[in-house]
Amino acid sequence: MPLADGFDYLWTGAGAPPPAGARVRVPFGTRERIGIVLDHPAATTLPANRLKPVIKPIDRHPVLGDELLETLRWASEYYHHPIGEVLSHALPALLRQGRSLDEPVERVWRLTAEGAAQPIDRVARRARQQARCLDLLKRQERVAQSDLRRAGLTAAIIGRLATKGWIEPCEPETGSDGVEPADGGNAAQPGGAAEAPAPGAEPLPDLTADQTRALEAIRAQDPGFNTFLLHGVTASGKTEVFLRLVREQLDAGRQTLLLVPEISLTPQLVGRLRRRFGEALAILHSGLTDRDRHDAWRRAWRQQARLVVGTRSAVFAPLPAAGLIIVDEEHDPAYKQERGFRYSARDLAVVRARRLDVPIVLASATPSLESYRNALERRYRLLRMPKRIGAAGVPAVRTIDLNQHVSRHGLSTPLVALIDRHLKRGEQVLLFLNRRGFAPVLFCPECASAEECGRCDARMTVHARAGRMRCHHCGREAMLHWSCPACGNERLAVGAGTQRVSDALRSLFPERRIARLDRDVSRTRGALATVLEEVESGETDIIVGTQMLTKGHDFPRVTLVGIVNADQGLLGTDFRSEERLAQTIVQVAGRAGRRDRPGQVVIQTHYPRHPLLAALVDQDYAAFARLALDERRLAEWPPWSHVALWRAEAHDREAVYRFLRRIGSTAREHAEDVQVLGPAAAPLERVAGRHRAQILLQAARRAPLHRLVGLIADASRPWPETRRVRWAIDIDPNGL
Ligand code: ADP
Ligand code: ZN
Repeated sequence: MPLADGFDYLWTGAGAPPPAGARVRVPFGTRERIGIVLDHPAATTLPANRLKPVIKPIDRHPVLGDELLETLRWASEYYHHPIGEVLSHALPALLRQGRSLDEPVERVWRLTAEGAAQPIDRVARRARQQARCLDLLKRQERVAQSDLRRAGLTAAIIGRLATKGWIEPCEPETGSDGVEPADGGNAAQPGGAAEAPAPGAEPLPDLTADQTRALEAIRAQDPGFNTFLLHGVTASGKTEVFLRLVREQLDAGRQTLLLVPEISLTPQLVGRLRRRFGEALAILHSGLTDRDRHDAWRRAWRQQARLVVGTRSAVFAPLPAAGLIIVDEEHDPAYKQERGFRYSARDLAVVRARRLDVPIVLASATPSLESYRNALERRYRLLRMPKRIGAAGVPAVRTIDLNQHVSRHGLSTPLVALIDRHLKRGEQVLLFLNRRGFAPVLFCPECASAEECGRCDARMTVHARAGRMRCHHCGREAMLHWSCPACGNERLAVGAGTQRVSDALRSLFPERRIARLDRDVSRTRGALATVLEEVESGETDIIVGTQMLTKGHDFPRVTLVGIVNADQGLLGTDFRSEERLAQTIVQVAGRAGRRDRPGQVVIQTHYPRHPLLAALVDQDYAAFARLALDERRLAEWPPWSHVALWRAEAHDREAVYRFLRRIGSTAREHAEDVQVLGPAAAPLERVAGRHRAQILLQAARRAPLHRLVGLIADASRPWPETRRVRWAIDIDPNGL
């Protein structure tokens, strides 16, 4: 369990105390624990007889370098989160448990040239086991010690071979990152080889004019901190731009950190990186085993990994030789951690870049309004790539007015006709469903009631194939009963879920192959990769999916994208819902028509004349962003103001409001230039039987807001109300 604040200890060892950022063993209560040295204060408020000495240092060199430690302390203050939890979030589990950074987690062996030259049958005559070991290593390039042991070889035999110089320890393979490698996909590269390719590498494409301009703009800046916003439409070649930058850093012996929103969704990118950068690559994401994570972290720490690719928490990767940071899909909400230490990896990446004094590139086809405003006000350098690679051009976008056309199972007649036309031409179709609030619910037409969770203010969703109902907020499951418990009538599943839409498509197009891609599918290991492969290879005719489809896949044969329902976003109550809808529509539209096939996008909606949709139909995300920024300014929402939320929840509704009312009155008492709103019920008021509410603090400037938040946090610590609820401070919330 990480602890809130720092604790003071006495250094009684010989010589200087361990440096800040190094781990030490310390007594804590009746037990020993591992701590990180934060600094070396000359004085303490503890009485001398309560000050305990450090038991022993663990590291000679800090595991957390100065820059990283500083960033973490800054983050702890900015997000008003205890430093102990922040440090524990940043360190891989094995390091928290005291594992050394000097040794690999496990030995991995390979043959030396001399070992490879040994004739195995000759060795076998004198030393059968040694020959077996050589033989194993001949067949597989590297083998972990534990695998050799499992094959029945003793440590003594392995040791003897090492003494002879026939085998040697080596770095584990970079492939042990838990991501299924994807090959193919990008095989056909138009354009000739521009640079002499490394042996075995694929030739690099000639850069387009836009790519060259972007690269030159970045190179032209003085070295050091600079933020670039690379706004390029999907498939404009953004990735290619930053891969060139990575190569330059690598050749100069420097490290690059590349953040991506979700790794399991981008096997194509991982494949591309591995082919290009091989051993220099380390991957950090939440699906890794502790061992693999430790190993990737350690390789970055030792500068063996010079391209560190990872999701959110990889923003805390060690970068002793940093040269560049890139945040791909910088608008993606996945960069915000939504529980515990609620940080934004995108924002912390900018903070780190500044501290490291290196350039940072934020890339997106649909930049966040925060970043876009920074670019408009020239704090960020805006680089535009408005054209797609290849001859296809941007897809045509139009709306289908749901007020004028019948729709069955979520599919309107004009959409069905379009699907038919594209399929008959031998092309693929992609249908997108907004995930939230759009799963099928059980509805009784007789008594007009829908099945509720009972613990949450949410409806149960139907998973017909599994014969179950599920609450997507708290995870409660129940048997699916088609008859209504109130009147006994047969109920209907209302609302088009991916499954219902794909069932409907199956009966409309019985001889076509239809695939589904959503959270349910991706939960099964390997299923995601299979679905993506089948779409890529052309086996699948129609793919139906949720938000997961918006992430950077390259589906070259998809020419029609249908957005089944856009209205959730238009009717949203959150200040970010329009921005999210626009991003989703543009991203998913980007899947239509790649290379030489022109694409078409249709949006089904009840609001075809909504100004926001109009901007998107004109394919002008920049125009949309300016419009939306104006609206936010009028309403004084971020980025025109700064927001902090005090969230609280408990089974006892009254306890939640008692706590928040006290927070509110304390806030109002001390507020200067800060608006205090609430308490108000959270948009989803009840989850798993807990009542949720919040207080909103809003200010034009950050400083008074943070001062106030700090003051309330300190003041509220001893209150009895504080102990009766679960609470959290959310700085720069993703939504309300
Ligand atoms: P983005 O990141 O903007 O979506 P990518 O860099 O992934 O775009 O490029 C889209 C596709 O075009 C990829 O398959 C990539 O290999 C290819 N590509 C990128 N740059 C070029 C180029 N200059 N010439 C030809 N093909 C390119
Ligand atoms: Zn529930």
